[in-house]
Amino acid sequence: MEILEAKNLTKIYGSENGEESTRALNGISFAVRQGEFVGIMGPSGSGKTTLLNILSGIDRGTSGKVEINNKDIYKMSKKELALFRRREIGYIFQDFNLLDSLTLQENIMLPMILDEKSPEDMEKKAKELMKLFEIYDISNKYPYNISGGQQQRTAVCRALMNSPSIIFGDEPTGNLDSKSSKGIMECFEKMNKELEATILIVTHDVFAASFCNRVIFIKDGEIHSEIIKKGTRKEFLDSIFNSLALLGGEGYEV
Ligand code: ADP
Ligand code: MG
Repeated sequence: MEILEAKNLTKIYGSENGEESTRALNGISFAVRQGEFVGIMGPSGSGKTTLLNILSGIDRGTSGKVEINNKDIYKMSKKELALFRRREIGYIFQDFNLLDSLTLQENIMLPMILDEKSPEDMEKKAKELMKLFEIYDISNKYPYNISGGQQQRTAVCRALMNSPSIIFGDEPTGNLDSKSSKGIMECFEKMNKELEATILIVTHDVFAASFCNRVIFIKDGEIHSEIIKKGTRKEFLDSIFNSLALLGGEGYEV
């Protein structure tokens, strides 16, 4: 079953005929099936953030369409889309986006509080997730008193609270050192394998991408190629390096 379908997405920033316009996406189509863990890679400026923002309902494309669970997200009213995003989409940011005035547990329960779920259900779910992602012992701490890796694990739990149809991650390891990055990518792997979450991340990081099951490469706003994991993660890491060498572009000369 397809969870996400992107059809011929384009994005032009600025006026279409003006000199200042930038064509950030130029006809991107792909689908993500239930239970997949997909990575999108590409050089700086290739359109990764633009694409993720359009797929997750943060920003509209110039043309094309996005369907999540067979629903065209841009045919919804603003209010419907806001509700849909809260219930169907989990989002993990590069800079964690936790509220400093709330404890970890409160941060995690926030999406459910907005949805007016019962406090007992909320606490039960939050505790299960905090145990699974090994932050249960620090659940009463505040974000500024814990490490980046622990903050990102809190964000992972928060993203899972409403059992969304799909989890999006924008450079989820971008602000982490290599040890914490490994920990977070193992959390993504756990989300995908144990909780059967469908995940799409955009990343610069070859190591992070090697945890995915499929990697799509974009360049100049177009899909360039894709590879599917066969064999071990280390073998996949080598294939990703090879694909990036073919892709070329700033920051990826190998
Ligand atoms: P990436 O995330 O892969 O680095 P982006 O999606 O941020 O790429 O950017 C793709 C292209 O669109 C770049 O040329 C960038 O300069 C341009 N761009 C991104 N956001 C805007 C914006 N808000 N206004 C104008 N141009 C933008
Ligand atoms: Mg970006």
